[in-house]
Amino acid sequence: MSNGNVASLYVVATPIGNLEDLSSRAARLLGEVAVIAAEDTRHTGRLLRHLGLSVPMLSLHEHNEAARVEQLDARLVAGESVALVSDAGTPLISDPGFVLVRELRARGRRIVPVPGACALVAALSAAGLPTDRFTFQGFLPAKGAGRRGRLELLAAREETLVFYESPHRIRDTLTDLATVLGERRLVLARELTKTFETFLDGSAAELLIRMEVDPDQVRGEFVVMVAGAPPREEDEAAVVEGEALMAALLAEGVGVKQVAAVASRVLGGAKKVWYARAQALKDMSV
Ligand code: SAM
Repeated sequence: MSNGNVASLYVVATPIGNLEDLSSRAARLLGEVAVIAAEDTRHTGRLLRHLGLSVPMLSLHEHNEAARVEQLDARLVAGESVALVSDAGTPLISDPGFVLVRELRARGRRIVPVPGACALVAALSAAGLPTDRFTFQGFLPAKGAGRRGRLELLAAREETLVFYESPHRIRDTLTDLATVLGERRLVLARELTKTFETFLDGSAAELLIRMEVDPDQVRGEFVVMVAGAPPREEDEAAVVEGEALMAALLAEGVGVKQVAAVASRVLGGAKKVWYARAQALKDMSV
């Protein structure tokens, strides 16, 4: 057991390609726990061999996760620490582990994240699309109608959209992105941290052409990032309306703070944004 005397479930991120991305803390903890719950024990076995470790493993995947909860909890109650890993990246992120973590947390067990590689974060960090707000949607539905329906629900979102995709479906997904979202800018991150890591930038239609010309671009694993929708016209109309309202109130001698509060109440939107606009109007009128 490590980390004091409390037996813990360590949720350990593992590399998404480059083995050097395993943290030294992760390597140490994998060697210290009594058992490792792994999505695929053969896959994790290779990582352990690379680290020179020999630690008992249990499989934990979507079909046995609920049944594993009691078994792993019994280990914790007996004072033994457990590590949870998936094949690549951070467990629970489009990977098994949610049921285990939810149940153990509900029982008051100690659960410790051991952060490291995660494909969506790695992709966003180098794509050059806005990252102040983004929506991660995991994998889109496998069937065309479901996929297009999901994209239609997301079409008006103004933040960056992030999806995981497999090589089997990448072209179908790009085709649906072109149909539903049109000329929107995309960045496709492929084979992150691996030898053939590639970032492609363009509209969905342009990226499909790149894949047609160079079939290697269809190989491997993908993170698809899509620029958010441009701000809606109603928002612009609301700004025009709000500014007219605020200008009239300012002319009446109402204070900037009150004017911003009225605009926010009548037209929605953050008070501090309206405050900045009201202040600008006041400055202009001086
Ligand atoms: N838990 C993982 C994580 O933290 O990113 C994700 C697991 S999910 C089952 C696998 C998907 O993640 C792939 O289909 C791909 O979309 C994305 N992915 C994983 N490794 C990647 C890599 N090296 N390059 C690009 N995408 C990757």
